[in-house]
Formats: sequence, structure tokens, C-alpha cells
Amino acid sequence: MASLLITGADLVGRDSDGRSDGRADILVEDGVITEVGSIRSAKGADVLDADGLVALPGLVDLHTHLREPGREDAETIASGAAAAAVGGFTAVLAMANTNPVTDTAEAAERILDLGRATGLVDVVPVGAVTKGLDGEELAELGLMHRSRARTTFFSDDGRCVHNARVMRRALEYVRAFGGVVSQHAQDPNLAGPQACAHEGELSGRLGLPGWPGIAEESIVARDVMLARHTGSRVHVAHVSTAGTVEVIRWARAQGIDVTAEVTPHHLVLTTDLLAGYDPTFKVNPPLRPQEDVDALRAALADGTIDAVATDHAPHARHDKEHAFVDAAFGMLGLETALSVVSEVMVHGGFLDWAGVARVMSQNPARIAGLAAHGSALAVGDAAHLTLVDPSAEVTVDRSASVSLSRNNPWHGRTLRGAVHATFFGGRVTAQKGALA
Ligand SMILES: [Zn+2]
Repeated sequence: MASLLITGADLVGRDSDGRSDGRADILVEDGVITEVGSIRSAKGADVLDADGLVALPGLVDLHTHLREPGREDAETIASGAAAAAVGGFTAVLAMANTNPVTDTAEAAERILDLGRATGLVDVVPVGAVTKGLDGEELAELGLMHRSRARTTFFSDDGRCVHNARVMRRALEYVRAFGGVVSQHAQDPNLAGPQACAHEGELSGRLGLPGWPGIAEESIVARDVMLARHTGSRVHVAHVSTAGTVEVIRWARAQGIDVTAEVTPHHLVLTTDLLAGYDPTFKVNPPLRPQEDVDALRAALADGTIDAVATDHAPHARHDKEHAFVDAAFGMLGLETALSVVSEVMVHGGFLDWAGVARVMSQNPARIAGLAAHGSALAVGDAAHLTLVDPSAEVTVDRSASVSLSRNNPWHGRTLRGAVHATFFGGRVTAQKGALA
């Protein structure tokens, strides 16, 4: 029997009210947690001394772009899974905007199988809402759900389901099996495909096409009303403005079934980084002013925003190294997410480690319906877990990444808090920034 004894870890992550249970030992046998507490010895077990480390349930990312099939030069499912493991993740949702698009049962099963073959994380295929992401005709939502992939999470991410009739029908359809539609909220009439900078004084000065917050807020306002009307569930991808936070807060107060995520980059980086026209900072939705960043932090801390999701968006050099307006949208995020959240939310005083467990594991697992993830680290749970060194300082080096891409907006920054080791099904997958 393969067994592992983790000694002296801080199990703060399992206590939902935020009080630490203090240090405990964790015994893992055949991929399952079999004992938690003070464990004197475990015969034949590998022993890992976790003194000073925090044990979290394995991280879950609701928003990852893995580029396979179609753009394996930017990322494959294997390289993305490796980046996820290094970043402390044990499950990632792979967005549907690949080539071909994940809009059939066969396509979803293929991604599931390629993910399983990595043995590093659970790769959960996201189903497209519409065929070919065309925004008009619904994809095979029911067939994807009945497939081996058991898809419950659908998104046209990269594009907005802007047609209200289509969004209404998608919500009605997924309600039958408890599914959810994750919306990339961007009204194309207010922020078209060229829009690439927060609309304001700076975008005007730089001569960059503006992406106003209202293009996000108006779609979210419409979608929460559609969720109420249909009795279905909507998830808001990458919330980027204070106005969207207000809409979600209002919707929650009405009892509307809405959940939301924020990216690490929108919690820290601001629109003035665009002043040097560095395409590394081109992302969709765009970086916003400090007052939006402040509202997002507060909303994540108070639970209005449920989850942190990376929107990991690898791009090959030849797609990113262009004039700002022509460069591809997106940033890497899997390997740095935990350190960014630690730096800004924990060291910044907004969340304790129990809160991090909530927003990076338990809530995303619940939203995606992943029963084996987001556990309370209790006896009988699958041993998907992440050990974090809260005091480690890391200086991000984009060349050290296991991703195939290098569009890393954190390059050169020093962050406090780092993933020490990741365990997937009781097996160590990554340790100190590298695959195990
Ligand atoms: Zn998106």
C-alpha cells in the first residue's frame, strides 16, 4: 500500500469559520486521507515534514486555456497540466475556445482523456455554449453532459454570448441537469474586437481603442435577470469593474443564483501599465484603474466574488510580440496564482488561509460540481492537497516556467507565499516550482 505521512502541517484550510485547528499530521493511503491528528508513526510510509507549512485542499481553476487541440505551440494539455501542478492546482477547467472548439461530446471526451493521461491534475473540459462559438446556435449541451466528460460547465469564453435569446435558451437547457453557463461579459456593440484598453483618459492619450466597464456591467445585469427569469445558474467570468461587483451584490441580495470569479491580475495590475505599450499587459477584459482593483479585493474578501480563477492564456511569441493593438489578448497565470493571492490578499490583510482555501479550492469545486475536489481535508477525502509556505519569497522568472509560453506579467516581481508541494491522489506532482 502506497502511503505518505505529512507531519505538522497547519490545517487552517479545513476550518470554514477561519479559526485554525492548529497543527496536525495527515496520513494518506492509496490516494485517500485515512487519518488526521497526532499520528505517532505509520509503518512503511514516506514522511514529509510540513513544519511551518499550510495544508490547503488542492487548488481548482475555473478558467484555463490549454490551446490543445489547435495551438500546441503555445500550450498542450500536458504542458498546461504541468503548469497547473507546479502552481498547486489539482483540477483545472479547460476552456472550449480551442481549434476545433469543444462543442461536441467527442471533443469533450478527448480532452478528458488527454488530461487523464497526464496524471498530474483533473482536466475538466468546459463545453462551448454555441457551435463553433458563433453565438447563434446552441452546441450539443445535453450530449456533452451525457458523455463520459459529464460536462456541467459551459462557456463561449473569449467571446460573449451577447444574443439574449441564445443566453436565455442556454440557461433553460442547462437547468435540467444542474449545469451553469459562465459568461465572458463583453457587449460587442460597446467593446468590439479591437477594444484593448480600459476606456478613459489614458486610452485616449495612448490612442488605443477603449473597452469601457459598461460593456461588462450591462451584460452581467442582463444575465442575472435572465438567471432569475429562467431559475437557472449563471457564473460571471473574470469580473473586472466595481460596477459589476455592485450588480452581483444586488443580484445575490435578491436570491438570484449567480457566482463570480476574479483573476489574480485584476486584483493587482492597473491600466497605467499600458503606458509603455508592452503587449504582456494586453488582456481581456483589460486592466482597470486602482478604484476597480480595490473594489475587486473587497468583493473577494466579503464573498461577493466567490473564486479566484487564473484565465491562464498562453501565447506563442509570434502572436504576442506585436504592436499593442495587434498582439494577442492574455497572460499566463497558473504557476503564479497562489503567490499573487498570498501577496495581495493574505499579506494585504483581506483573507486568511481558510479564506484562500475557500476562494481557490472549495468554492470553485462547488461551482464546477467537482465532488472529489475542494475537500475539508477530512478522513475519507481524496488526497488532493497543496502545501504552501506562507513566508517563502519568490521572484518570478518567466524563463523558469514549465508552460510552453512566456507571456508572464509577473516577471521580476517578488511575492510572499509559495506552493511548496502539490499532491494529486496522494502522489506528489510538483515541489518548489518544478515537477516532482
Ligand atoms: Zn474571457
